Amino acid sequence: MDNRPDIGLVGPARRDILDRKLYNYKGVQMVDLVHASRGCRFNCYPCAVSYLGGRDFRPRPVDKAVAEMAGIDNNRMFIVDNSLAQDSQWEKDLFREMIPLKKKWCSHPIEDKPEILDLAAQAGAWYVYQAVFDTSDYIRERVKRYHDHGIGVEGTILLGLDSHSEEYILELIDFLLDIELDLAEFTVLTPFPHTKAYKELEQQGRILTHDWNEYSADKVVYQPKQMSPDRLQALQDLAWNRFYEDEPQEMKMFKLFRQVLGKEMEDGSFKPRNRALANQAFGKDLL
Ligand code: SF4
Repeated sequence: MDNRPDIGLVGPARRDILDRKLYNYKGVQMVDLVHASRGCRFNCYPCAVSYLGGRDFRPRPVDKAVAEMAGIDNNRMFIVDNSLAQDSQWEKDLFREMIPLKKKWCSHPIEDKPEILDLAAQAGAWYVYQAVFDTSDYIRERVKRYHDHGIGVEGTILLGLDSHSEEYILELIDFLLDIELDLAEFTVLTPFPHTKAYKELEQQGRILTHDWNEYSADKVVYQPKQMSPDRLQALQDLAWNRFYEDEPQEMKMFKLFRQVLGKEMEDGSFKPRNRALANQAFGKDLL
């Protein structure tokens, strides 16, 4: 793992062996997964990516990544890179080359600069995953900037950091509703091996089990600082329930789906095959 091959050698995935009939939801084709880079130059507290993918950003040559995307028989993709927000020039080159493809895609974070957001929107950015780690104006404004560019945001929210009290978690949920996140996903801090979190909690004797089957990110496997493990577990359930109380997850997802259909109708990339499937799933009135 320390001797990684040249990223330029990575070729396109063998999608011809995929039975697409198995990958649709209520008749709607699922997104195709594709990656344009590997590794991450950051080393965030709970994250094992720097161990698994390497602590250096290894972008694929833009022409190779875009050629793979162009060859995908699906208008919608998930760019699964850990974080695209690592090299502004490469990011701009990638998005610029993607514009003619008229694909629509979701991804992990992209850089929060006007020029990059603008190019991302032109390149078909549909929605991004964004970690929401506090209730600051920085986060509020960042989410607003995505929205101003027509890009949706699914917040990924990690509960149970040492700074998190019960009051803080409740305040955070209200904040997420206030900034109108399109979707939110709540996990509890999980000290995966080779992370800073694991090292620290292990040293402090706060890890409650080393049964990796329990490390599913929705079970509390360590002693939180400001509450009992049971209380944190209950707060995670409460977070899901409260965030989706007024508008269920299915409805929020449906809104995002309608958003991508709108973009496709606008730029003419909507495929008749998809139209039939969408009508079948959501009724002819939709279109
Ligand atoms: S959380 Fe994201 S930015 Fe941080 S190390 Fe992991 S992949 Fe990189």
